[in-house]
Amino acid sequence: MKPEKIKVVNKDTLHIVWDDGRAQDIKLMVLRRECPCAVCKSELEEESSSYIPVYTLEQLTVTNIKPVGFYGLSVIWKDGHNTGIYQYNDLYNMNGITD
Ligand SMILES: [Zn+2]
Repeated sequence: MKPEKIKVVNKDTLHIVWDDGRAQDIKLMVLRRECPCAVCKSELEEESSSYIPVYTLEQLTVTNIKPVGFYGLSVIWKDGHNTGIYQYNDLYNMNGITD
């Protein structure tokens, strides 16, 4: 599974068209919360499940998206955070809607 098109729409949603034709929308807030890097993961684990993180606009703005190898995407956020690599499988299975 690979993305054919990736773009940010309405400044808050990542729109992906996969090579099987499926179109998917992931809210940037969800994408940020699901950041797979070690720092974010350990922060999430320390919070209770009812914790709702509050993000700044910079933390929810994507400056760049780069493919990593054949398996994932590196997302660079405006606050400088760039260590998360989102694997295509995880993205494909992500429930991207907040409410
Ligand atoms: Zn992270």
